[in-house]
Amino acid sequence: MDMPTKLSEIARTDWDLIVAGAGPAGALVAHMVAKEDKKVLLVDKAVFPRSKVCGCCLNASAFAALQEAGIAHILAENNAMTVENFAVHDSLQQASLRIPRGYALSRAVFDAAVVNEAIKSGACFLPGTTAYLEEARSDAVRVCLKDEHELVQCDASILVVADGISGRTLAGHKEFDFEIQPDAKFGAGAILPGGKDLIDAGTIYMACANQGYVGMVRLENGQIDVAAALCTSFSRECGGPAKAAEKILRSCKLPIPDNLAQSSWHGTEPLTRKRKKLAGQRIFVVGDAGSYAEPLTGEGISWALWSALTASNLVVAAIDDWSMELATNWQSIRHRLIDGRQRNSKFIACLFSHPFLRTATLAGLRLIPALAQPILTNLKEDGMLEAVRQMNHTIAHGGRGQHSNKLGDKLGDKLSDQLGDQLGDQHSDQRSEEPCPQAF
Ligand SMILES: Cc1cc2nc3c(=O)[nH]c(=O)nc-3n(C[C@H](O)[C@H](O)[C@H](O)COP(=O)(O)OP(=O)(O)OC[C@H]3O[C@@H](n4cnc5c(N)ncnc54)[C@H](O)[C@@H]3O)c2cc1C
Repeated sequence: MDMPTKLSEIARTDWDLIVAGAGPAGALVAHMVAKEDKKVLLVDKAVFPRSKVCGCCLNASAFAALQEAGIAHILAENNAMTVENFAVHDSLQQASLRIPRGYALSRAVFDAAVVNEAIKSGACFLPGTTAYLEEARSDAVRVCLKDEHELVQCDASILVVADGISGRTLAGHKEFDFEIQPDAKFGAGAILPGGKDLIDAGTIYMACANQGYVGMVRLENGQIDVAAALCTSFSRECGGPAKAAEKILRSCKLPIPDNLAQSSWHGTEPLTRKRKKLAGQRIFVVGDAGSYAEPLTGEGISWALWSALTASNLVVAAIDDWSMELATNWQSIRHRLIDGRQRNSKFIACLFSHPFLRTATLAGLRLIPALAQPILTNLKEDGMLEAVRQMNHTIAHGGRGQHSNKLGDKLGDKLSDQLGDQLGDQHSDQRSEEPCPQAF
């Protein structure tokens, strides 16, 4: 179809799906659903290509998700750097780990490439447009769309909210509010010119301290991405995130990129959070918009992509024949697939914020790299693919995702068991829903 470009034309179309947010989660849902010949509108408040505070590393699990979606070619096409080493430092110790192959690609390029795949599949993309849910009725959702010229109301069968941790699409709908972990760290980052020999390509450098951590990686264009998760009070004491990051890198004896403190740094809202509800009347929440933990293990994009792939199947079924059962099933599948992984990520960040435990862990990893196996397991695909394929199969055979729900339960249990075994009983206690006291 000819794509409308003005909001007034957009508002006259009956959309099967509106996706609010064109990060990896939203763009992938738009791509998958548009492939099924549905009328999909993808909107993002930012003008693309846009950068984002992120370590810019796609782990092996994210790669598997892109392969499953049939768009892994975007990495090679955009000269993504292969990443196979992880060098973790604190002020006293350092360990180098071989990790399952991942990729480093700037978010401006990666996110635009996924959006481009959605457009090629037939989705209509509107950058520079903010979405707000006005009302969700039994027959449709009504969404307000606002760009710099106009404000319109637009109806769709289904709304997917993929607006990340800072999105306001569901603002004012109290049942969807976020619960933010008290004293959650905030994210900050910058992209810096890459001094030629400053850091090796293909290695993620991570500097860890009590008050936060800083990651560095070389990008496809030779620049260096610096991304940090910092305690707010520490950042204030240091005079801002750039100075705080510099202090942590220096304490770990890692090289300081030129212009680190002079560059333009961007920050995020508090990171660790969870929404009260992940679905409702004709609404599905995917990616960080559902919940986010810590960036230390660099899994956020893979969580976003897998949750998008899994949700897409339910969204297509919901467009064809809406029932609240689909929303309930999404909530349960999403919890079971992602929550365990996010708890593990929080647990590892908690361990690394404790000076003695961190140094001891690094010393242990240096002597016996195999101790990293529980962390490395999470970087691989590990069960997500099976869940998505089972869900496809169930829906193709007339089910509503209930079997996948059971599968989600099984996978969640399997992952928890695996990690419980590997990390030991005292650690499983700390993987509860409660924030870990030492971490923040
Ligand atoms: C410091 C740091 C380092 C990280 N490093 C890594 C890493 O190395 N590897 C990794 O896998 N993950 C990493 N992550 C996590 C990763 O960045 C996120 O998990 C990932 O971007 C989530 O994707 P998403 O699509 O859910 O949300 P986002 O990528 O945040 O996309 C949300 C989009 O929604 C748009 N939006 C917001 N509100 C609206 C609205 N009302 N209407 C329309 N559009 C809206 C925004 O403009 C944005 O484009 C890191 C995070 C941080 C903070």
